[in-house]
Amino acid sequence: MARPFDNDRLVIASHNAGKVREIAELLAPYDISVVSAGELGLPEPEETGTTFAENAALKARASVAGSGLPALADDSGFSVAALDGAPGIHAARYATREDGTRDFAWAMERLHAETADADDRTAWFTCALALAWPDGHVEIFEGRVDGMLAWPPRGDRGFGYDPVFVPNGYAETFGEMSPARKHAMSHRAIAFEHLIAACFTADDG
Ligand code: IMP
Repeated sequence: MARPFDNDRLVIASHNAGKVREIAELLAPYDISVVSAGELGLPEPEETGTTFAENAALKARASVAGSGLPALADDSGFSVAALDGAPGIHAARYATREDGTRDFAWAMERLHAETADADDRTAWFTCALALAWPDGHVEIFEGRVDGMLAWPPRGDRGFGYDPVFVPNGYAETFGEMSPARKHAMSHRAIAFEHLIAACFTADDG
């Protein structure tokens, strides 16, 4: 049995504005006051884990240590079959230029160049959510959405690799979808469904 969440404050353990916005939107129906690790000026831990779950847990624990509050972390990434699942947990690093800036337009060009000769266009997003409490307890939930690589990139909604991903059963990229549509079926939404079912009671809704 997962531990129920009965606190009224929660830190979103992320410095990524796109993720913080999506997580805040997904938590909106619940009566919880959220603040991000970025807003609190908490340091970003190095992501030394070898899985999404490990990295989510270490980010959540770091925010708990810095704030004394429960924290929710998301570790997610984009995987391409033709690249044996890369960039995967290194999706953010893959988009980081030598000068340290993140450039997703460049990262999408890079992916396109590296997959130009591949017949297999399948790709997927993965999300692990870690909810950590000040006493050290952690709960982990995962979600995945499968689809196809699109080229050229389409849409200016969402963030990261959204413009080059078309989920199975849809014609639009994540970058073209309304937030409501993406939140109904994304990797993050699936992980959230598990989190809500396990840790948030119906009375919180
Ligand atoms: P991390 O979880 O902070 O290591 O970074 C995950 C990276 O994966 C993000 O910076 C994005 O590049 C990518 N990513 C994760 N989720 C999404 C999404 O929903 N849309 C687009 N890109 C995503």
